[in-house]
Amino acid sequence: MSKRVLITGAAGFLGSHLCDRFIAEGFQVVGMDNLITGDIKNIEHLFPNKNFEFYNHDVSNYVHVAGKLDYILHFASPASPIDYLKIPIQTLKVGSLGTHNLLGLAKEKKARFLIASTSEVYGDPTVHPQPEEYWGNVNPVGPRSVYDEAKRFQEAITMAYHTFHGLETRIVRIFNTYGPRMRLNDGRVLPAFIGQALRGEDLTIFGDGTQTRSFCYVDDLIEGIYRLLMSDYAYPVNIGNPNEITMNDFAQEIIKLTGTDQKIIYLPLPQDDPKQRQPEITKAKAVLDWEPKVSRQEGLKITYDYFRNFTKEQLDSTKNNKDF
Ligand code: NAD
Repeated sequence: MSKRVLITGAAGFLGSHLCDRFIAEGFQVVGMDNLITGDIKNIEHLFPNKNFEFYNHDVSNYVHVAGKLDYILHFASPASPIDYLKIPIQTLKVGSLGTHNLLGLAKEKKARFLIASTSEVYGDPTVHPQPEEYWGNVNPVGPRSVYDEAKRFQEAITMAYHTFHGLETRIVRIFNTYGPRMRLNDGRVLPAFIGQALRGEDLTIFGDGTQTRSFCYVDDLIEGIYRLLMSDYAYPVNIGNPNEITMNDFAQEIIKLTGTDQKIIYLPLPQDDPKQRQPEITKAKAVLDWEPKVSRQEGLKITYDYFRNFTKEQLDSTKNNKDF
C-alpha cells in the first residue's frame, strides 16, 4: 500500500513542487492551504490525479485528516518579508499554533514530521558561512522577528516533541530558493529583478549592492528535503547553495541573461536587512550525500523562460503584492 503524506502550504511555491515530487514518487498526497499567499493554479494540474486531495484550511485552527498519514511536511507560512510584514500575527500563529496542531496530528497518526525552517533563524549573522551549530543573532522585537522568532519557536517545539514524545522529526533550514512558481512580487531580489527585466523597468538595489546572497534552484532544494525526510537525522540541516554573489554582480548577470539595457538604481537599505547570507552545507553533504547540482546560469534560464510566457497583464498584476 502506498505511503500517504500531508503537505501544508501545498499551493505555495515550495509546497507545490513538493506535491509534484511526492506524486512522482508514488505517494498519496494530501495538500492543505488557506491560499493566503499561495495560488491554486500552482496545483491545479494535480486535481485530476486520483492520488491527490486538497483541503482549503487554515492550519492555525484545529487540523483533522481522516485516514492514515505516514509523513507530515509543514510548509504553510508566509515566507517573504513583504508578506509577513503585512500579516505579522498570522505569521506568528502559523509558526506556533499551526505547528502545535500539526505536531498533535503527527503524534496521533504516528507520522514522521518535517518542518520548513529557514536561514532567518540565524538573523543578521556574525559568523560566515552559517553552520547549524550557530545560534544566530536575532532582534526579538525587530520588524523581521515575527517570522524569525516564529521559526525559532517552531524548531524548539518540534525538538520538544521529539525529545519528550519520541516523535520522529526533521528540521530543514532552507536558504533563499528560486524557480518557476515563485511570485515575482514577493519582495525578494531574484524575482524582483526578473519581474523588472520583463517589464522593461530599471533594476533596484537596496544599499550599495555589496551585500551578498546565495540562491538555490528549487529542484536541488526538493531533493535535499526528500533525502532528509527519508534519513534518520533529527537535528537541523541547512539546505542551500553556497555559491555567493554580490547584488551588483547579480544585477549585471540578469541584464546579460535578459539581453536588455536596464539601468541599476540604488535605494536605502531596509532595517535589519542581512548583509551576507551563505549556507554551510557540510552536514547535508555528510548526512544526506547532498549538494546542489543546478548552476545559477542554468536555473536562472529555466526560471526566466517560465516567466517569459506570462502575458503583459500577468506581469503587471505581479507588480503590486495582493492585499490581505
Ligand atoms: P509561499 O508563500 O509561496 O507558500 C506558503 C503557503 O502557505 C502559501 O500557499 C500560503 O497560502 C500557505 N499558508 C500560509 N499560512 C497558512 C495557514 N495558516 N494555513 C494554511 N496555509 C497557509 O512560500 P514558500 O516560498 O513556498 O515557502 C514555504 C515554506 O518554506 C515556508 O514555511 C517558508 O518559511 C519556508 N522557506 C522558504 C524559503 C524560500 O526561499 N522560498 C526560504 C526559507 C524558508
